[in-house]
Amino acid sequence: MRPSDLDPAFISHAPGYWSEDATENWDDHRWQLRNRVDSLADLDLRLNLTDEERAGVLLAGTKLAMAITPHFFNLIDRDDPNCPIRRQVIPRIEEGWNAPEEMADPCGEDSHMPVPGLVHRYPDRVLFLVTDRCASYCRYCTRSRVVSGVGEQHLETQWEMAFKYLEKHTEVRDVLLSGGDPLLFSDDKLDKILTRLRAIPHIQFIRIGSRIPIFLPQRITPELCAMLKKHHPLFISIHSNHPRELTTEVRDALGRLADAGIPLGNQSVMLRGVNDSVEVQKALVQKLLMCRVKPYYLYQCDLINGSSHLRTPVAEGVAIIEGLRGHTTGYAIPQFVIDGPGGGGKIPINPNYVVDTASGKITLRNFEGEIFEYPDPTPISKETLKALNHRALNGCHCP
Ligand SMILES: *Cc1c(COP(=O)(O)O)cnc(C)c1O
Repeated sequence: MRPSDLDPAFISHAPGYWSEDATENWDDHRWQLRNRVDSLADLDLRLNLTDEERAGVLLAGTKLAMAITPHFFNLIDRDDPNCPIRRQVIPRIEEGWNAPEEMADPCGEDSHMPVPGLVHRYPDRVLFLVTDRCASYCRYCTRSRVVSGVGEQHLETQWEMAFKYLEKHTEVRDVLLSGGDPLLFSDDKLDKILTRLRAIPHIQFIRIGSRIPIFLPQRITPELCAMLKKHHPLFISIHSNHPRELTTEVRDALGRLADAGIPLGNQSVMLRGVNDSVEVQKALVQKLLMCRVKPYYLYQCDLINGSSHLRTPVAEGVAIIEGLRGHTTGYAIPQFVIDGPGGGGKIPINPNYVVDTASGKITLRNFEGEIFEYPDPTPISKETLKALNHRALNGCHCP
């Protein structure tokens, strides 16, 4: 951990590994995408790779592609293979081993798709997978079976069928656009999708799940924000795991979204060697609040194939929530969830503050370990009620 990782200051890392002549194009998101680090040769130019990483990169070509925007790459430590940023985006050979508990589709999405690309798992909301591409690829991607386009399966979103399904299913009041990363689409394409959804009267609430504000903050242009704000109520869930990711550029991009009236939430994933400590999580959630982002969910890492080196025991996540609750702003505390393997949906996991539930009262402990009792309500007796009535009706207010 760099000492500055726990510092609340926002730091810009540009141009970092890139030469000064990159700086004139730095703010252009197209330049960022064109110059992604996506080959072993690109990596070797900039990092001292370990054997595990070198082998991992070769493997990635057939499982989940490697791609890292220059903006995000700059956050990586050159010499530290355990760098928390590096672990998220640079493949390692451990990805080549599937632990017995792991799966290709850990959230059972494929079995909940009434239309290819549309996951209808909950009564009133759907997950709409609109693309299989991202600005950079997270090594623990829960949808690595389709995302990046090099794996065994392919995402074939059936647009017309999906819109027809949504028009017919009046119980769907909430649509979550994800993928892949929907903010990779042009403003125009995204505008058309949102307009089509907004024409469906029963769809009240639209969300976009995106890591672009973190990987490619340059994409959050004033034009994009002006387009998005036509489609309110629209929320965005971002994905940030470590306080170093919140740079000045990211803070400003999030500020533009917030200024467009878009409520922002963050979804983090518990990752070994990245954010598996209370100190790092506390720095992250406090910095998110400074960016006007509410920490929404902290996910237990899904049982995706080749992820055991990044996953943590569930108890660690519970300990982190316990280390936050009461110790910092309530707004900063995400809900820790496990997506029930095989398609159970999100299940909340909380530290246990209930010590006992004997009849008539609950015994609790607070964040400092002190014990408190909260009794059930005592019913008012018929006699007392009668006496109160009598006194009130007779104009006597004495006790
Ligand atoms: C996460 C998820 C949602 C949204 O769940 P919320 O708890 O409302 O954020 C909807 N559909 C699917 C399939 C999901 O995985």
